[in-house]
Amino acid sequence: DNKNSNDPTAETQSNTSSEEDKELPASEKSLLQKIVRTGLVTSKHDIEVQRRDPKSPLYSIKSFELLKLHPSLLKGVYEMGYNAPSKIQETALPLLLANPPQNLIAQSQSGTGKTAAFVLAMLSRVDPELKYPQVVCLSPTYELAIQTGEVAAKMSTYCPNINLRYAVRGEDVEKGSKIEEQIIVGTPGKVLDWATKYKFFNPKNIKVFVLDEADIMVDTQGHQDQSFRIRKLLPETCQMMFFSATYTEDVMRFANAIAPMSVILRLKREEETLDNIRQYYVNCNNKEDKYDALVNIYGGVTIGQAMIFCQTKKMALWLVNQMAEQGHAVTLLSGELTVQQRISVLDRFREGKEKVLVTTNVLSRGIDIEQVTIVINFDLPVTVNREPDYDTYLHRIGRTGRFGKKGIAINLVSGSSDHFVLKQIEEHFCKPIECLNTDNADDME
Ligand code: ADP
Repeated sequence: DNKNSNDPTAETQSNTSSEEDKELPASEKSLLQKIVRTGLVTSKHDIEVQRRDPKSPLYSIKSFELLKLHPSLLKGVYEMGYNAPSKIQETALPLLLANPPQNLIAQSQSGTGKTAAFVLAMLSRVDPELKYPQVVCLSPTYELAIQTGEVAAKMSTYCPNINLRYAVRGEDVEKGSKIEEQIIVGTPGKVLDWATKYKFFNPKNIKVFVLDEADIMVDTQGHQDQSFRIRKLLPETCQMMFFSATYTEDVMRFANAIAPMSVILRLKREEETLDNIRQYYVNCNNKEDKYDALVNIYGGVTIGQAMIFCQTKKMALWLVNQMAEQGHAVTLLSGELTVQQRISVLDRFREGKEKVLVTTNVLSRGIDIEQVTIVINFDLPVTVNREPDYDTYLHRIGRTGRFGKKGIAINLVSGSSDHFVLKQIEEHFCKPIECLNTDNADDME
């Protein structure tokens, strides 16, 4: 779509949806969030137990030692930097490791330690002496399956006899042979084929069945049905572990079909706030002016990393080219990139190889990059009708409780309509947005 290329001046006025980056699908957001994550999301809320087993009381553990794990597995856990269980792990782990095994449905937002919990449970349930699959873990996409597999590989560093097999596109097993790895991590369709059509493993030997990212599964055509068909092949005694970041009716219906009579644990999501954010605006006349302000800000901020949001991909591209020409280490994340390219952009940014990430609304929701200290709205977030988009504003610059440190948000505004939008945003959140003079070095401190 190169219609009016090379005329970036048309940009601020025209704001058609075809020029905007579409938001990424939930599976990709979840993946990118995993890529940029450097630690746990902590929560001020308490675990809610929505259904319990009256015969076995729930309890929580404050240290991994209390779980009586195999020493080589415990060593792997500590080596990953996990000193103490996260909130969801405190309650989920004793339950996942209990004997007789119990089924669990757990919901908590991304980053709270669900994957680490079920990977630990999977690994500790495996009998390394037996050379056939005993655990099946379903993920909605190829990339998410690989992420989970990598956590399992890391955690089992000191368990050389535990092995994992991916059941994802591109992976093949020789016809007529049997899988010897104890753990299968894959997507529903492929796992179902391997179990039924090719009989690469015997589902009757599966002791643990994990269903991860269930909320993404329910939105994917066929996944529920395939997962359910796999589930029906498993023995009665198989332990079911069901995880989701959200708790909708659809998800719960799916949950109860996969894991009936489970204990249900919920951790309410931590809301984003602007409480620790200092908000500013800079008066600009036009796009070039905004660019100058940006470079001044950038020069004044030597620590940390910055994220810059533009309304359209064309504006984002223009900005990145300008900055790159002047020798700034800047990178662009746009909707046109492939999944692999997006992963690599975010990987590099997280590692600090680039200090500035320019993006559009592809990243506005659900992605927190913890080390970002300054967020710049090169364009204010507006809806297609040029109404203020409060949600997007909050998602771009708001922080959840885990960020103790303060953040800075700077809005570059030009023209009366921008000022009007800014005023509305200020009133909506009841938080002052102060004027910043970027020519004045004192203001930048
Ligand atoms: P979720 O599956 O809920 O998204 P993860 O299990 O992926 O959460 O955990 C989020 C991040 O926190 C990961 O970087 C993971 O390595 C880390 N993590 C998980 N459990 C712990 C723990 N007990 N202590 C410290 N870090 C942890």
